[in-house]
Amino acid sequence: MTAAPPQVVTDLTALRGLVSQARQSGARIGLVPTMGALHPGHLSLVRRAREECESVVVTVFVNPTQFGPGEDFDRYPRDLAGDLRLLGDTASLVFSPPSEAVYPTGHATTVHVAGVTERWEGPLRPGHFDGVATIVLKLFQMVGADVAYFGQKDYQQSVVIRRMVADLNVPIELRVCPTIRESDGLAMSSRNAYLTPEQRRQATVLSRGLKRVWLAYAQGQREAAVLANLLADSLAEAPDLVTDYAALADAHTLEPVERVDGPAVALVAGRLGRTRLIDNCLLDESLDPAQLDRWMMT
Ligand code: AMP
Repeated sequence: MTAAPPQVVTDLTALRGLVSQARQSGARIGLVPTMGALHPGHLSLVRRAREECESVVVTVFVNPTQFGPGEDFDRYPRDLAGDLRLLGDTASLVFSPPSEAVYPTGHATTVHVAGVTERWEGPLRPGHFDGVATIVLKLFQMVGADVAYFGQKDYQQSVVIRRMVADLNVPIELRVCPTIRESDGLAMSSRNAYLTPEQRRQATVLSRGLKRVWLAYAQGQREAAVLANLLADSLAEAPDLVTDYAALADAHTLEPVERVDGPAVALVAGRLGRTRLIDNCLLDESLDPAQLDRWMMT
């Protein structure tokens, strides 16, 4: 596999041939799973993969099984040509399989991760994490990468995948990369394109609330109820936002905490009209200061 521009492969046998060629030439294989509609958040994962791997496979597949009934599968933005332009020469290969190749007729196997799926997104999106775990394991099996890159933006997803990889002895390293934000703090997401200008304005309350939480934490506040109230106060500034949850949880188990004495995460999710937004902030004394500095600028 060479760089510039990325080769698009839709066939699994062809993918495996190219990956094994790259491996034979000594390349480390990086995998960035996406649903397309790429933005700078995705590109940051691809760049990180590029730094660590000689060969980078980006998958573009809008996975039907992770969307619930009434969710946005049909209207989810799809623009492979735009995605390829954006990727330029950062990816070696784009794997964009047809749905029938991923879910053959009669498919009957689902990966279910218990525990860490049971709160937050789990009950609100029944079946979502089964769909995520199943597609991610399938992509791991199809690509055979050494390292896979995920965004902290979908924090619970990253915890679920880490659990699955450990439980099923999947031979892959995981990297969870910082959330990339718009200049006003809003976490970048393919779904932001659905927001009306007024909703877009109100959407900043999520990151503003998390920033307030982080500042209070940095100043020594450890009471989860106090931190959660700061978050709730910010969310209340958006009249059209319907909050799904705003809470402090253990960073590993995702169980709610009363005090932030170890690594924790502030998790927030809500809806503006039909658009669902999620965001989070890690509260950990070993936080990457560069990430926080960038955020604090906004
Ligand atoms: P998606 O296409 O939404 O399934 O996302 C593909 C990957 O990109 C997932 O690992 C996401 O967590 C990650 N991602 C999405 N948005 C961002 C962002 N703003 N910053 C960093 N990573 C992101």
